[in-house]
Amino acid sequence: MNSFTQKNDTLHAENVALNQIASEFGTPCYVYSKSALTHAFERFSAGFAAANHLVCFAVKSNPSLAILNLFATLGAGFDIVSGGELARVLAAGGDPKKIVFSGVGKSAVEMQAALNAGIFCFNVESASELNRLNKVASDMGKIAPVSLRVNPNVDAKTHPYISTGLKNNKFGVAYEDALSIYQQAAAMSNIAIHGVDCHIGSQITELSPFLDAFDRVLLLVDALEEHGIHIQHIDLGGGIGICYSDETPPEFNAYAAAMLAKLGKRNVKLVFEPGRALVGNAGVLLTKVEYIKHTESKNFAIVDAAMNDLMRPALYDAYHDIKTVQTRSDQSSALTYEIVGPVCESGDFLGHDRKLALAEGDLLAIMSAGAYGMSMASNYNTRPRAVEIMVDGSQCHVIRKRERIADLFALEAVLPKP
Ligand SMILES: *Cc1c(COP(=O)(O)O)cnc(C)c1O
Repeated sequence: MNSFTQKNDTLHAENVALNQIASEFGTPCYVYSKSALTHAFERFSAGFAAANHLVCFAVKSNPSLAILNLFATLGAGFDIVSGGELARVLAAGGDPKKIVFSGVGKSAVEMQAALNAGIFCFNVESASELNRLNKVASDMGKIAPVSLRVNPNVDAKTHPYISTGLKNNKFGVAYEDALSIYQQAAAMSNIAIHGVDCHIGSQITELSPFLDAFDRVLLLVDALEEHGIHIQHIDLGGGIGICYSDETPPEFNAYAAAMLAKLGKRNVKLVFEPGRALVGNAGVLLTKVEYIKHTESKNFAIVDAAMNDLMRPALYDAYHDIKTVQTRSDQSSALTYEIVGPVCESGDFLGHDRKLALAEGDLLAIMSAGAYGMSMASNYNTRPRAVEIMVDGSQCHVIRKRERIADLFALEAVLPKP
């Protein structure tokens, strides 16, 4: 299901030509396809239809209210990592009883907000956090539902910055310590043990790390049962990769079938926290070529989007396909370009060595920009963040206005005159 297609030499989002969107709303501009989002969620869920399951969209991958609202309407739960994301999910109409709260640094205030909302589960990442949560819940006269995030120590075979399941990172508790921390939890007055949680990393393109992690989690679940600690749900996190160029990530139905096979006849609910896999290929970043510049060894296309709009290339050296919105008839004029932004950093690039037929003023679409695009955008270089558009068939909806420059320093003050 690809909702960004070429029609008459022009790239479209569903039925709308991207050059039309650029002329109406300006660039840089994020464009999402409602049907791509809907299909991704439905396909992911379909694989688990026969099982007791909950799909919690990982809000940090794209926290747009419109996207959260769309997923909430489709029945999604949400994986949050901050009080801010909790507020967003509630504002978007998300069901608090379908929220899981992950993250290594939950503050007491965030815990209170989540307890007040009545979330589904806290994914606790340390013994200290467990103690604090017990205290906060006790002060409020509430019982906190918890899973311990365990670190199964499997290699997700992905970029080190987005691998989280190995021993030496800040996430989760060591596998070897999990049983004893569960026993501590079982003795706490205001903690209710509900599940076991793991999340081993992101942009994982093979099934085996997921299966290895699930094996480890099931061993722990059995050990807990032997110690009289009953687990109601297993949260297997997110991390399924998408195709940015030539990766072949697991198909959703293959992933689901493999997971269900491993679960066997156990009577536990399965929770998943996909982010990128649901939104990554449902969005593009639309940008205009401002200047073309030739140096001795390189050709540069300087575009009006930059690392502040899409940080992944600068941060992870990530690859995004870059397409011209309107295909030029003179393809023989194609040159190899560095696609770079206006930000004053040499790391400010969107793509290296792209062979394209281009002229100044042309529009480019940075593909697969729906996940960790706008959500990681900043105002670096005092650049307003881009407008976001959701396309639904032939209609365009502004789901976030372009920021205004005056707003960028509206909260600031100069010192009073001496
Ligand atoms: C980031 C994150 C996810 C989502 O990861 P994706 O690779 O986008 O699927 C899920 N769970 C936790 C705990 C995370 O930190």
